[in-house]
This record gives sequence, structure tokens and C-alpha cells, in this order.
Amino acid sequence: MIHPRIRELSAYKTETTPCKVKLSSNELPIKFPEEVKRKIGEVVSSLPLNRYPDPNASELKEVIAKRFGVSTDNLVLGNGSDELIQYLTIAVGELNSPVLYPVPTFPMYGICATALGRKKVEVPLKEDLDLDLETLLRAVEEKRPSLAFFSYPNNPTGNCFREDAIKKVRQEGVFTVIDEAYYHFSGKTFLADALQREDTVVLRTLSKIGLAGLRVGVLIAKEETAREINKLRLPFNITYPSQVIAKLMLEDFYHIIEEHVQMVLRERERLMRELSNIEGVKVFPSDANFFLFKTPYPAGLVHAELIKEGVLVRDVSYLPNLENCLRVSVGFPEENDQFLQAMQRVMKKLC
Ligand SMILES: *Cc1c(COP(=O)(O)O)cnc(C)c1O
Repeated sequence: MIHPRIRELSAYKTETTPCKVKLSSNELPIKFPEEVKRKIGEVVSSLPLNRYPDPNASELKEVIAKRFGVSTDNLVLGNGSDELIQYLTIAVGELNSPVLYPVPTFPMYGICATALGRKKVEVPLKEDLDLDLETLLRAVEEKRPSLAFFSYPNNPTGNCFREDAIKKVRQEGVFTVIDEAYYHFSGKTFLADALQREDTVVLRTLSKIGLAGLRVGVLIAKEETAREINKLRLPFNITYPSQVIAKLMLEDFYHIIEEHVQMVLRERERLMRELSNIEGVKVFPSDANFFLFKTPYPAGLVHAELIKEGVLVRDVSYLPNLENCLRVSVGFPEENDQFLQAMQRVMKKLC
């Protein structure tokens, strides 16, 4: 019989409505040149697919370690950082101690906790969408969580939380995961802490830098911590194609990724500026490749009108503190223009 804790779950939701302009999943807008695609074809077609891949993905780890400025002993790779979130939820603390995270945030922290039967301590963000330190500390004292997740920057709000609040929660003896999925757009990191402290790990991913389809997540921790988490890892969790393509892209074509990250950073500023110039639209600050915006109208309505215009964004208005809010990812300049024009028409129509 399927346990009630699983029955209570709802599967992870993503936007699947087909649309010309898809700005709903925080993916990097990038089209790899033909030369790159040809090279990918070559490395993939020469793989012995009847063989298991390297269980330790050693060559890929070497390249990632170099890129992130750490040693391979500090790394655990996952099938996306989602898998690493699950490993951490299994590995850290007693299963009868709760998992703490602010809300709204990335849904996987709650899903993994529930799947394992762990209690969740969800602390609402303040109205300014930053951490509510007082409530967090009270929650730590009352519920004694052993594990905390902070999305940094936070998805879906886009901001990096105040560092001192994260550190004060950690200081109470809570093992702290800093999920830096958007590190390349924020430049802010707890990496030094993750390399020095037993109570801190950092998560990164290739998903937001153009390689979401490969499913490669990266956990960075002290050697001892990485070694323990690695025991949990399912064998061969990084597929053969993912290992060789990710290695190729990070080694030979990283400059293309970096150029596109820079393009997104420039476009983020332009898109936020131009969107906030539309009457009635409020734009929230962002350290990520997406941002929140708000209109005076029900978000479901704006969302549906944008789909009619061929633009898909994410309706996040059902989340606490995010009434009338939508989340949009930064795309190619042409896509951002199409979104802006669509917003202008939709706002005019609804007023
Ligand atoms: C997108 C995202 C991830 C995704 O991870 P995968 O590596 O694609 O599994 C993890 N954390 C946050 C906060 C995200 O927004």
C-alpha cells in the first residue's frame, strides 16, 4: 500500500503550455552553433552505449572542479541538484527532526521532506521578501530542525537573502544548504564556508547555464561531508551522454556559455527597466536570470492573456506574499521585446 505521506504529495508542477516565447522555466536563452552541435554528435556517437558509464564521472568532476575552483574531493554530482536535495534530506539529521526553509521558495525542499516523512517548518518571508530572522530563530528554538535550505538567490522571488540571518540560523546548530542554482547571475556565494565548515554545503547546477537537458547538479562540501553523501548516490546517476557532453561544453565551449550569461545580465536590466515603465506594473529586484512582477489584475488573467499573445511566464500568485505576482525569465532580446509588447497590449486591454 502506498503510504499516506506519499498520497499527500502532488508531483512537481511545471508550465507545459506550448508557446512561441517560453519564459517560464529560468532556462538560459542559448542556441549552440552548428560547429558545437557537430562536436556533440561526434562525442556521443562514439560512446559504447552497451557499457555502464564511469560510476564516479571522474573526468567530468575534474572539469567541474577546475571551473568552480575546488578539488574533486569536495564534489558530489547529482542527476540535477534536485537529486542532491533528496540525498541531503536523507543524510542530514534524524528523520524525525524537521526540515526548515523560508516560503515561498523552491518546492523540492518540501517535496523531499514529505517523501521521507520529515516534518516541515515553513517560515514566511517578510513583506519585503527577505528573511524574517526573529520568526526563524523562534521556529528553530521551538521545532529544533536539523536541516535548513536557503535558495540563494531565492526562486521565485529572485533576491539573495540577508547573509547575517542565514548565519544566525546556522549558528543555532542547523545544517545549512545554500542552493546557488543562480550563482552565475548573482555572483554571491557561501563557497568558502562550504569548504571550511561541517555545517554548510553549497548546491550548484548546470541547468541554469544552458544545459538543463543534461541533468547535472553539483554539491560542494568539505571532503568528509562529500564522502558521506557520496555513499548514498545511486550508481551511474550521471548518464554517459551527460558526462561527455557536459565535459565537452565546460572544457571547450565555456566561453559561449559565459557570453550568454553576460547577455542575460544586460537584458535583465533592460527588461526590468522597460517593464517597470508600463503603467501599473511593479517590478521586484533580482539577482537571478528571472524576476517577479506584479500588476493590479489577477495573475491568472494576465497569465492567460499572455498565452494568447504567445508568451509563457509563470503564475506564482498562489504562493504566500505573492498576490497578483508573475515570474518571468530573461530570454533573448527578441523574446524580451515580444514579452514587453505583449504586456503593453494586455495591460491596455485589462484597464
Ligand atoms: C532550477 C533550480 C534548481 C534545479 O535544479 P536541477 O539541477 O535542474 O535539478 C535547484 N534549485 C533551485 C532554487 C532552482 O531554481
